Amino acid sequence: MLSKPTFMDISMYEKAIRLVRDWKIIDKKIDQFMATVERGESRYPFDYYYDKESGSWFIITEMCNAGGCTLEEIKVESKEAAKRIVAQKTMFGEKMRTERACFACYSEIYFLQNEE
Ligand SMILES: [Zn+2]
Repeated sequence: MLSKPTFMDISMYEKAIRLVRDWKIIDKKIDQFMATVERGESRYPFDYYYDKESGSWFIITEMCNAGGCTLEEIKVESKEAAKRIVAQKTMFGEKMRTERACFACYSEIYFLQNEE
Protein backbone atom coordinates (compact mmCIF):
# COMPACT_ATOMS: atom_id res chain seq x y z
CA MET A 1 0.00 0.00 0.00
CA LEU A 2 1.31 3.42 -0.97
CA SER A 3 1.45 6.10 1.66
CA LYS A 4 -0.02 9.53 1.08
CA PRO A 5 2.48 12.07 -0.30
CA THR A 6 3.17 14.99 2.06
CA PHE A 7 2.12 17.64 -0.50
CA MET A 8 -1.52 16.41 -0.62
CA ASP A 9 -4.25 16.35 1.95
CA ILE A 10 -6.25 13.13 2.33
CA SER A 11 -9.23 14.17 0.13
CA MET A 12 -6.91 15.29 -2.67
CA TYR A 13 -5.03 11.99 -2.35
CA GLU A 14 -8.24 9.95 -2.55
CA LYS A 15 -9.34 11.96 -5.58
CA ALA A 16 -5.98 11.32 -7.29
CA ILE A 17 -6.27 7.57 -6.61
CA ARG A 18 -9.81 7.54 -8.05
CA LEU A 19 -8.63 9.39 -11.18
CA VAL A 20 -5.81 6.90 -11.74
CA ARG A 21 -8.25 4.00 -11.30
CA ASP A 22 -10.77 5.57 -13.69
CA TRP A 23 -8.02 6.25 -16.21
CA LYS A 24 -6.87 2.61 -16.04
CA ILE A 25 -10.46 1.48 -16.75
CA ILE A 26 -10.73 3.91 -19.69
CA ASP A 27 -7.30 2.83 -20.95
CA LYS A 28 -8.41 -0.81 -20.90
CA LYS A 29 -11.61 0.11 -22.80
CA ILE A 30 -9.49 1.93 -25.39
CA ASP A 31 -7.34 -1.21 -25.80
CA GLN A 32 -10.47 -3.35 -26.21
CA PHE A 33 -11.94 -0.94 -28.76
CA MET A 34 -8.65 -0.85 -30.73
CA ALA A 35 -8.70 -4.66 -30.80
CA THR A 36 -12.21 -4.67 -32.31
CA VAL A 37 -10.97 -2.31 -35.05
CA GLU A 38 -7.95 -4.57 -35.69
CA ARG A 39 -10.35 -7.53 -36.06
CA GLY A 40 -12.46 -5.50 -38.50
CA GLU A 41 -15.51 -5.40 -36.20
CA SER A 42 -15.56 -1.62 -35.81
CA ARG A 43 -14.22 1.46 -37.51
CA TYR A 44 -12.61 4.64 -36.28
CA PRO A 45 -14.78 7.68 -37.07
CA PHE A 46 -11.63 9.62 -38.03
CA ASP A 47 -9.12 9.15 -40.82
CA TYR A 48 -5.40 9.38 -40.23
CA TYR A 49 -2.58 9.45 -42.75
CA TYR A 50 1.15 9.75 -43.23
CA ASP A 51 2.44 12.85 -44.99
CA LYS A 52 5.68 12.02 -46.81
CA GLU A 53 6.69 15.64 -47.25
CA SER A 54 6.68 16.50 -43.56
CA GLY A 55 7.38 12.96 -42.39
CA SER A 56 4.47 13.24 -39.93
CA TRP A 57 1.23 11.47 -39.13
CA PHE A 58 -2.00 13.45 -39.07
CA ILE A 59 -5.53 12.82 -37.81
CA ILE A 60 -8.24 14.56 -39.82
CA THR A 61 -10.69 16.14 -37.36
CA GLU A 62 -12.77 18.22 -39.79
CA MET A 63 -13.64 17.66 -43.42
CA CYS A 64 -15.31 19.94 -46.00
CA ASN A 65 -18.82 18.60 -46.67
CA ALA A 66 -18.79 19.65 -50.34
CA GLY A 67 -15.49 18.31 -51.64
CA GLY A 68 -14.08 16.19 -48.84
CA CYS A 69 -11.15 18.59 -48.37
CA THR A 70 -9.32 18.55 -45.04
CA LEU A 71 -10.30 21.56 -42.90
CA GLU A 72 -8.66 20.67 -39.61
CA GLU A 73 -6.14 18.08 -38.58
CA ILE A 74 -3.81 17.36 -35.73
CA LYS A 75 -0.21 16.26 -36.03
CA VAL A 76 0.79 13.19 -34.07
CA GLU A 77 4.15 11.51 -33.59
CA SER A 78 3.47 8.04 -35.05
CA LYS A 79 0.91 5.71 -36.57
CA GLU A 80 0.46 4.04 -33.17
CA ALA A 81 -0.15 7.45 -31.56
CA ALA A 82 -2.67 8.27 -34.32
CA LYS A 83 -4.61 5.05 -33.67
CA ARG A 84 -4.59 5.55 -29.90
CA ILE A 85 -5.70 9.20 -30.06
CA VAL A 86 -8.44 8.31 -32.56
CA ALA A 87 -9.58 5.49 -30.25
CA GLN A 88 -9.58 7.88 -27.26
CA LYS A 89 -11.60 10.46 -29.18
CA THR A 90 -14.07 7.76 -30.19
CA MET A 91 -14.39 6.56 -26.59
CA PHE A 92 -15.20 10.11 -25.52
CA GLY A 93 -17.90 10.38 -28.20
CA GLU A 94 -16.06 12.66 -30.61
CA LYS A 95 -16.63 12.41 -34.35
CA MET A 96 -15.04 13.97 -37.39
CA ARG A 97 -16.81 17.28 -38.04
CA THR A 98 -18.40 17.76 -41.48
CA GLU A 99 -20.75 20.71 -40.97
CA ARG A 100 -19.28 23.23 -43.40
CA ALA A 101 -17.73 23.60 -46.85
CA CYS A 102 -14.23 24.96 -47.35
CA PHE A 103 -13.81 28.37 -48.95
CA ALA A 104 -12.77 26.95 -52.36
CA CYS A 105 -15.74 24.55 -52.60
CA TYR A 106 -18.18 27.11 -51.25
CA SER A 107 -16.99 29.68 -53.82
CA GLU A 108 -17.33 27.14 -56.63
CA ILE A 109 -20.88 26.20 -55.61
CA TYR A 110 -21.81 29.84 -55.19
CA PHE A 111 -20.33 30.67 -58.61
CA LEU A 112 -22.19 27.78 -60.32
CA GLN A 113 -25.49 28.78 -58.71
CA ASN A 114 -25.13 32.37 -59.84
CA GLU A 115 -23.94 31.64 -63.36
CA GLU A 116 -26.30 32.64 -66.17
ZN1 LIG B 1 -13.70 21.69 -50.06
